[in-house]
Amino acid sequence: MAMTRERALTIDFTACDGHGLCAELLPELVELDEWGYPVFRATTVPAGLVRDARSAVAACPMMALRLTPAPAPDRAGPPGGTARRERTPEAGLR
Ligand code: SF4
Repeated sequence: MAMTRERALTIDFTACDGHGLCAELLPELVELDEWGYPVFRATTVPAGLVRDARSAVAACPMMALRLTPAPAPDRAGPPGGTARRERTPEAGLR
């Protein structure tokens, strides 16, 4: 039986223009902060949302979103993945 590796949503904030298309296409995982920049509710994409996540990645006009294999649990970084931690709900600064 083949295992499907989890996917992770990451963002390059240096490329993001903050217009929020990703939050419209993937509201289950992305919301916007008060400046219109995306904040991930979670970076690991549930299997049922991978298709929508791919659509959001493809639609991002700045190519700032990426869908990558999730890090292995023993190598996982802090919550929020490569997203800036101060923009994650886990960081508690919202
Ligand atoms: S769609 Fe892309 S450019 Fe627009 S807010 Fe989302 S990540 Fe940023």
